[in-house]
Amino acid sequence: MELINTHCHTGYNGHAEGAVEEYVAHALEAGLTTLAFTDHYPLSHAMDPTAYVSVPIEKVDTYIEDVLAARLAHPELEIIVGCELDYLGADEDRVFAPGDLERFELILGSVHYVDKWPFDDPAQRGKWEEPGMADCIWRRYFELWCEAASDKALPYHVMSHPDLAKKFNHYPSFDLAPLYREAAEAVASSGRMIEVNTSGTYYACAEMFPAPALLREFCRAGVPCTVGADSHAPVNVARDIERGYRLMYEAGYRVVTVPTASGDRRTITIC
Ligand SMILES: [Zn+2]
Ligand SMILES: [Zn+2]
Repeated sequence: MELINTHCHTGYNGHAEGAVEEYVAHALEAGLTTLAFTDHYPLSHAMDPTAYVSVPIEKVDTYIEDVLAARLAHPELEIIVGCELDYLGADEDRVFAPGDLERFELILGSVHYVDKWPFDDPAQRGKWEEPGMADCIWRRYFELWCEAASDKALPYHVMSHPDLAKKFNHYPSFDLAPLYREAAEAVASSGRMIEVNTSGTYYACAEMFPAPALLREFCRAGVPCTVGADSHAPVNVARDIERGYRLMYEAGYRVVTVPTASGDRRTITIC
Protein backbone atom coordinates (compact mmCIF):
# COMPACT_ATOMS: atom_id res chain seq x y z
CA MET A 1 0.00 0.00 0.00
CA GLU A 2 1.10 3.56 -0.66
CA LEU A 3 3.04 4.96 2.30
CA ILE A 4 3.14 8.57 3.47
CA ASN A 5 4.56 10.51 6.43
CA THR A 6 3.14 13.92 7.26
CA HIS A 7 5.15 14.58 10.44
CA CYS A 8 8.94 14.76 10.31
CA HIS A 9 11.66 16.73 12.10
CA THR A 10 15.32 17.31 11.17
CA GLY A 11 18.56 18.45 12.77
CA TYR A 12 17.32 22.04 12.46
CA ASN A 13 15.66 21.20 15.81
CA GLY A 14 18.06 20.87 18.71
CA HIS A 15 16.47 17.57 19.77
CA ALA A 16 16.38 15.84 16.38
CA GLU A 17 19.14 14.64 14.08
CA GLY A 18 19.80 14.36 10.36
CA ALA A 19 19.75 16.57 7.31
CA VAL A 20 16.77 17.04 4.99
CA GLU A 21 18.55 15.06 2.27
CA GLU A 22 19.11 12.12 4.62
CA TYR A 23 15.40 11.95 5.45
CA VAL A 24 14.58 12.07 1.75
CA ALA A 25 17.05 9.28 0.98
CA HIS A 26 15.47 7.05 3.63
CA ALA A 27 11.98 8.00 2.49
CA LEU A 28 12.76 6.99 -1.09
CA GLU A 29 14.29 3.75 0.09
CA ALA A 30 11.13 2.99 2.11
CA GLY A 31 8.94 3.86 -0.87
CA LEU A 32 7.15 6.86 0.62
CA THR A 33 5.16 8.95 -1.86
CA THR A 34 4.58 11.98 0.39
CA LEU A 35 6.89 13.41 3.03
CA ALA A 36 6.02 16.55 4.97
CA PHE A 37 8.84 18.26 6.85
CA THR A 38 7.30 19.79 9.95
CA ASP A 39 10.06 21.16 12.13
CA HIS A 40 9.06 23.04 15.26
CA TYR A 41 8.25 26.67 14.51
CA PRO A 42 10.48 28.96 16.63
CA LEU A 43 9.39 29.59 20.19
CA SER A 44 10.34 32.79 22.00
CA HIS A 45 13.61 33.02 23.86
CA ALA A 46 11.63 32.94 27.13
CA MET A 47 9.96 29.63 26.23
CA ASP A 48 12.93 27.94 24.57
CA PRO A 49 16.12 29.73 25.74
CA THR A 50 18.59 27.33 24.10
CA ALA A 51 16.56 26.63 20.94
CA TYR A 52 16.52 22.96 21.91
CA VAL A 53 12.83 22.51 21.32
CA SER A 54 12.31 24.61 18.18
CA VAL A 55 14.20 25.81 15.12
CA PRO A 56 16.22 28.96 15.92
CA ILE A 57 14.50 31.90 14.24
CA GLU A 58 17.60 32.75 12.19
CA LYS A 59 17.60 29.28 10.65
CA VAL A 60 14.00 29.18 9.43
CA ASP A 61 14.83 30.55 5.96
CA THR A 62 17.58 27.98 5.44
CA TYR A 63 15.29 25.19 6.62
CA ILE A 64 12.66 26.18 4.06
CA GLU A 65 15.27 26.58 1.29
CA ASP A 66 16.65 23.14 2.09
CA VAL A 67 13.24 21.50 1.87
CA LEU A 68 12.44 23.31 -1.39
CA ALA A 69 15.79 22.24 -2.86
CA ALA A 70 15.03 18.62 -1.93
CA ARG A 71 11.67 18.91 -3.66
CA LEU A 72 13.33 20.13 -6.86
CA ALA A 73 15.90 17.35 -6.72
CA HIS A 74 13.32 14.58 -6.10
CA PRO A 75 10.15 15.11 -8.11
CA GLU A 76 9.24 11.43 -7.56
CA LEU A 77 8.42 12.22 -3.91
CA GLU A 78 5.87 14.84 -2.92
CA ILE A 79 7.79 16.94 -0.41
CA ILE A 80 5.76 19.39 1.65
CA VAL A 81 7.17 22.43 3.45
CA GLY A 82 5.56 22.41 6.85
CA CYS A 83 6.02 23.22 10.48
CA GLU A 84 4.68 22.13 13.86
CA LEU A 85 3.27 25.15 15.64
CA ASP A 86 2.68 25.13 19.38
CA TYR A 87 -0.63 26.31 20.72
CA LEU A 88 0.15 28.41 23.78
CA GLY A 89 -3.29 29.91 24.39
CA ALA A 90 -3.17 32.98 26.59
CA ASP A 91 0.59 32.47 27.02
CA GLU A 92 1.34 33.17 23.36
CA ASP A 93 4.27 35.60 23.38
CA ARG A 94 5.28 35.55 19.71
CA VAL A 95 4.33 38.21 17.23
CA PHE A 96 3.55 36.77 13.81
CA ALA A 97 4.24 39.12 10.93
CA PRO A 98 2.19 38.81 7.75
CA GLY A 99 3.75 36.07 5.66
CA ASP A 100 5.53 34.28 8.53
CA LEU A 101 3.17 31.33 8.48
CA GLU A 102 2.07 31.57 4.85
CA ARG A 103 5.43 30.14 3.83
CA PHE A 104 4.32 26.78 5.16
CA GLU A 105 2.09 24.51 3.10
CA LEU A 106 1.21 22.37 6.10
CA ILE A 107 0.92 23.47 9.72
CA LEU A 108 0.54 20.94 12.50
CA GLY A 109 -1.17 22.24 15.63
CA SER A 110 0.32 20.89 18.84
CA VAL A 111 -0.14 21.26 22.55
CA HIS A 112 3.15 20.57 24.35
CA TYR A 113 2.66 23.20 27.07
CA VAL A 114 -0.02 23.60 29.69
CA ASP A 115 0.22 27.08 31.17
CA LYS A 116 3.84 27.43 30.01
CA TRP A 117 4.79 24.08 31.50
CA PRO A 118 6.28 21.57 29.01
CA PHE A 119 4.41 18.53 30.30
CA ASP A 120 5.96 16.09 27.79
CA ASP A 121 9.57 17.08 28.44
CA PRO A 122 11.35 14.08 30.02
CA ALA A 123 13.07 16.48 32.46
CA GLN A 124 9.63 17.36 33.85
CA ARG A 125 8.53 13.81 34.37
CA GLY A 126 8.73 13.99 38.17
CA LYS A 127 5.91 16.51 38.36
CA TRP A 128 3.49 13.93 37.01
CA GLU A 129 4.08 11.88 40.17
CA GLU A 130 2.68 14.58 42.48
CA PRO A 131 -0.73 13.69 43.99
CA GLY A 132 -3.65 14.81 41.83
CA MET A 133 -1.35 16.12 39.13
CA ALA A 134 -2.33 13.67 36.40
CA ASP A 135 -6.03 14.64 36.75
CA CYS A 136 -5.17 18.36 36.51
CA ILE A 137 -2.87 17.99 33.53
CA TRP A 138 -5.24 15.80 31.52
CA ARG A 139 -8.15 18.21 32.06
CA ARG A 140 -6.11 21.27 31.17
CA TYR A 141 -4.48 19.50 28.23
CA PHE A 142 -7.84 18.68 26.61
CA GLU A 143 -9.18 22.15 27.37
CA LEU A 144 -6.29 23.67 25.43
CA TRP A 145 -6.39 21.02 22.71
CA CYS A 146 -10.09 21.65 22.10
CA GLU A 147 -9.54 25.43 21.97
CA ALA A 148 -6.78 24.95 19.42
CA ALA A 149 -8.70 22.36 17.40
CA SER A 150 -11.93 24.35 17.15
CA ASP A 151 -10.72 27.95 16.65
CA LYS A 152 -11.00 28.56 12.92
CA ALA A 153 -8.84 31.68 13.17
CA LEU A 154 -5.81 29.57 13.99
CA PRO A 155 -3.63 28.39 11.10
CA TYR A 156 -3.50 24.65 11.78
CA HIS A 157 -4.30 22.06 9.12
CA VAL A 158 -3.73 18.96 11.24
CA MET A 159 -3.99 18.49 15.01
CA SER A 160 -1.00 16.41 16.10
CA HIS A 161 -0.69 13.57 18.61
CA PRO A 162 -4.18 14.18 20.06
CA ASP A 163 -3.58 12.48 23.43
CA LEU A 164 0.06 13.40 24.00
CA ALA A 165 -0.71 13.68 27.74
CA LYS A 166 -0.39 9.88 27.98
CA LYS A 167 3.28 9.94 26.88
CA PHE A 168 4.72 8.99 30.29
CA ASN A 169 1.91 6.49 30.91
CA HIS A 170 0.18 8.55 33.59
CA TYR A 171 -3.58 8.45 33.28
CA PRO A 172 -6.26 10.37 35.19
CA SER A 173 -8.49 8.81 37.83
CA PHE A 174 -11.62 9.76 35.86
CA ASP A 175 -13.14 8.27 32.70
CA LEU A 176 -11.69 9.89 29.60
CA ALA A 177 -14.70 9.09 27.36
CA PRO A 178 -16.41 12.51 27.78
CA LEU A 179 -13.15 14.33 26.97
CA TYR A 180 -12.67 12.14 23.90
CA ARG A 181 -16.15 13.09 22.67
CA GLU A 182 -15.44 16.79 23.28
CA ALA A 183 -12.15 16.55 21.41
CA ALA A 184 -13.84 14.90 18.43
CA GLU A 185 -16.59 17.53 18.35
CA ALA A 186 -14.04 20.34 18.65
CA VAL A 187 -11.94 19.25 15.69
CA ALA A 188 -14.96 18.24 13.61
CA SER A 189 -16.32 21.77 14.00
CA SER A 190 -13.29 23.30 12.28
CA GLY A 191 -12.89 20.68 9.53
CA ARG A 192 -9.25 20.07 10.43
CA MET A 193 -7.52 16.74 10.12
CA ILE A 194 -6.05 14.75 12.96
CA GLU A 195 -3.09 12.42 12.70
CA VAL A 196 -2.24 8.97 13.87
CA ASN A 197 1.25 9.56 15.24
CA THR A 198 3.19 6.31 15.25
CA SER A 199 5.92 7.51 17.64
CA GLY A 200 3.79 6.87 20.73
CA THR A 201 4.65 3.18 20.67
CA TYR A 202 8.23 4.05 21.64
CA TYR A 203 7.38 6.07 24.76
CA ALA A 204 6.27 4.77 28.15
CA CYS A 205 2.62 4.80 27.01
CA ALA A 206 3.59 2.13 24.43
CA GLU A 207 0.79 2.91 22.01
CA MET A 208 0.33 5.31 19.13
CA PHE A 209 -1.39 8.66 19.50
CA PRO A 210 -4.38 8.70 19.69
CA ALA A 211 -5.69 5.78 21.75
CA PRO A 212 -8.07 3.46 19.83
CA ALA A 213 -11.11 4.77 21.75
CA LEU A 214 -10.26 8.37 20.85
CA LEU A 215 -9.60 7.47 17.23
CA ARG A 216 -13.04 5.79 17.07
CA GLU A 217 -14.60 9.06 18.30
CA PHE A 218 -12.77 11.01 15.59
CA CYS A 219 -13.95 8.53 12.97
CA ARG A 220 -17.54 8.68 14.22
CA ALA A 221 -17.42 12.49 14.06
CA GLY A 222 -16.19 12.37 10.46
CA VAL A 223 -12.76 13.86 11.18
CA PRO A 224 -10.24 13.18 8.36
CA CYS A 225 -7.12 11.40 9.54
CA THR A 226 -3.57 11.37 8.22
CA VAL A 227 -0.49 9.47 9.46
CA GLY A 228 2.84 10.77 10.68
CA ALA A 229 5.89 9.08 12.18
CA ASP A 230 7.05 12.20 14.07
CA SER A 231 10.54 11.20 12.91
CA HIS A 232 13.50 12.61 14.81
CA ALA A 233 16.09 10.47 13.00
CA PRO A 234 16.27 9.59 9.28
CA VAL A 235 16.00 5.83 9.89
CA ASN A 236 12.55 6.39 11.41
CA VAL A 237 11.09 8.26 8.46
CA ALA A 238 8.67 5.47 7.58
CA ARG A 239 8.41 3.80 10.98
CA ASP A 240 5.16 1.91 11.54
CA ILE A 241 3.20 3.79 8.89
CA GLU A 242 1.37 0.64 7.84
CA ARG A 243 0.62 -0.14 11.47
CA GLY A 244 -0.86 3.35 11.69
CA TYR A 245 -3.16 2.57 8.75
CA ARG A 246 -4.18 -0.65 10.52
CA LEU A 247 -5.06 1.27 13.69
CA MET A 248 -7.20 3.59 11.57
CA TYR A 249 -8.94 0.66 9.90
CA GLU A 250 -9.76 -0.92 13.25
CA ALA A 251 -11.24 2.40 14.40
CA GLY A 252 -13.55 2.47 11.39
CA TYR A 253 -11.59 4.51 8.84
CA ARG A 254 -11.42 3.23 5.28
CA VAL A 255 -9.26 6.02 3.82
CA VAL A 256 -6.13 7.88 4.90
CA THR A 257 -6.29 11.58 4.13
CA VAL A 258 -3.11 13.03 2.64
CA PRO A 259 -2.42 16.76 2.60
CA THR A 260 -0.67 18.01 -0.54
CA ALA A 261 1.80 20.81 -1.22
CA SER A 262 -0.92 22.78 -3.00
CA GLY A 263 -3.13 22.74 0.09
CA ASP A 264 -5.56 20.16 -1.26
CA ARG A 265 -6.23 16.77 0.23
CA ARG A 266 -6.24 13.39 -1.43
CA THR A 267 -7.04 9.96 -0.04
CA ILE A 268 -5.53 6.49 0.01
CA THR A 269 -7.88 3.56 0.42
CA ILE A 270 -6.89 1.29 3.28
CA CYS A 271 -7.09 -2.29 2.11
ZN1 LIG B 1 4.83 17.35 18.80
ZN1 LIG C 1 6.69 16.52 16.10
